[in-house]
Amino acid sequence: MALHMSSLFLRTLREDPADAEVPSHKLLVRAGYVRRVSPGIYAWLPLGLRVLRNVERIVRQEMDAIGAQELVFPALLPREPYEATNRWTDYGDNLFRLKDRKGGDYLLGPTHEELFTLTVKDLFSSYKDLPVSLYQIQTKYRDEARPRAGVLRGREFVMKDSYSFDIDAAGLEKSYQAHRDAYVRIFDRLGFDYVIVQAMSGAMGGSKSEEFLATAEVGEDTYVRCASCGYAANVEAVRVPAPDPVPFADAPAAHVEDTPDTPTIETLVDHLNERFPREDRAWTAADTLKNVVVMLVHPDGTREPLAIGVPGDREVDEKRLEAQVSPAEVEPFEATDFDANPALAKGYIGPGALGLDGTAHIRYLLDPRVAEGTRWVTGANQPGHHVIDLAAGRDFTADGTIEAAEVRAGDPCPACDSVLQSARGIEMGHVFQLGTKYAEALGLKVLDEKGKLVTVTMGSYGVGVSRAVAAVVEGNHDEAGICWPRELAPADVHIVAAGKDEQVLAAAEQVAVDLEDRGLSCIVDDRRGVSPGVKFKDSELIGVPTIVVVGKGLTRGVVEIKDRRSGLRREVPVGSAAAEVLAEVGRA
Ligand code: ATP
Ligand code: MG
Repeated sequence: MALHMSSLFLRTLREDPADAEVPSHKLLVRAGYVRRVSPGIYAWLPLGLRVLRNVERIVRQEMDAIGAQELVFPALLPREPYEATNRWTDYGDNLFRLKDRKGGDYLLGPTHEELFTLTVKDLFSSYKDLPVSLYQIQTKYRDEARPRAGVLRGREFVMKDSYSFDIDAAGLEKSYQAHRDAYVRIFDRLGFDYVIVQAMSGAMGGSKSEEFLATAEVGEDTYVRCASCGYAANVEAVRVPAPDPVPFADAPAAHVEDTPDTPTIETLVDHLNERFPREDRAWTAADTLKNVVVMLVHPDGTREPLAIGVPGDREVDEKRLEAQVSPAEVEPFEATDFDANPALAKGYIGPGALGLDGTAHIRYLLDPRVAEGTRWVTGANQPGHHVIDLAAGRDFTADGTIEAAEVRAGDPCPACDSVLQSARGIEMGHVFQLGTKYAEALGLKVLDEKGKLVTVTMGSYGVGVSRAVAAVVEGNHDEAGICWPRELAPADVHIVAAGKDEQVLAAAEQVAVDLEDRGLSCIVDDRRGVSPGVKFKDSELIGVPTIVVVGKGLTRGVVEIKDRRSGLRREVPVGSAAAEVLAEVGRA
């Protein structure tokens, strides 16, 4: 049965919601698809639920097509399996933990590796049972630090998660490829532009990992891409090529200099060029070594200072740093932390106070560009002093390297001689090879052909189903509203009865009946006392791909068919309206 606007549980809004910044959030709320219940927690109203179900259908079809089997686990889970993999702790504040009446610990599942692993362990025991891929489309809970942009980053959200189980690495590679191919088909059907990029495997552990990012300015992920070799990676996963070591036999000795009032890189570079001019060229920020101290907060609550040395022309990228130190979280190093570490002279911190040999014994990690033999201007650990010609490997060492410096457009491509371009995206899907991490932690082994027990190797694959609804809108809207791709639209046709006459309403109803009879779903705007102008606006806001206007033309025996996206319109005889729409929709 067609949906009738006169009775539909829907109120469109003229104004953008106050808390909305990104287009999809504004439009999904204004057009009555979702409604906020609490920060990061949304209700799906009738039209929204239809779209959500459409996304689910696409995902389900493509998962079924690769032979994955659907099941569903509870969202309310006991602590023990997550304790066994350490994630009860490692998930930190992102995990919703709760207690039952007996004081037992429970959690709301943020992702389900543990449950799938344990259930396969329960039921399967032989290599003959493998491979198997299992999936669910299910509600997940994460107490996100920054819920944002409506359903784009919720604290409750719908995810499709699947897990593959194989006897060996070759099998895993096959299962991974099958999932990756299915994801290509899913995201092609969802109808937004996306890129596949190398990714970090993060809290999940494991090795090979790729993300599907919807390209969008409002995205929280930054990725880089090389136009000439096809390399593409989330900046979190970029590995900076380390320069070759430089011999330092002939390098001048390091010398401490008076550099009053130079607590920033800019003031330092000006001072160097004025007081210590170079013969070959001017000093630049890239000649300086900036040492940034942060506070790591480990999942068990312990706090650990960490110093990071990066070339002074680059900032430390918060997301890259977080990806590297996960599951620890990063907090700023506060004034009280400086008080507790008197060897650190704020604005003049140098390697001498850091690392294993340093006076403050703060773990010290260097950007890969700070290669052996490179010489730097850096803090001398006393206010108003810097040291010049401090050579890495000769005058200082560190506890290791870290990929935390920002990656910029124009940086060299790690894979070829070309340079990188940079853009933003929304993480829509993630495929990764977990390997044996969970199987080992939970004891998932099967007998191989020779009767020997071997640990099963796993893959884990996620799609943001509710997030996809927002991503589709990001990629498919204009000034007036949403332009749904046909497969996702809450209905095939939006019929506007533009007029008060009973005749108009009756004709609109008849078009709807004809279309529904032929398998298309319709919304009929049959509201009395609502002006045609308001109805047109609502039809554009709601965004059903085909709009039929039954109005003034009726006296001439015609109705109008309008394409929502292109705005193209044409008149057709009212009697053949259904046939014309069917032809347009491609179902004639
Ligand atoms: P993000 O980096 O955006 O926080 P994630 O890497 O933590 O995501 P995964 O654990 O890989 O996410 O989850 C699989 C998919 O679930 C993601 O690719 C994303 O599409 C979706 N997803 C993750 N977190 C959320 C959320 N808070 N709200 C909506 N969808 C989400
Ligand atoms: Mg991810």
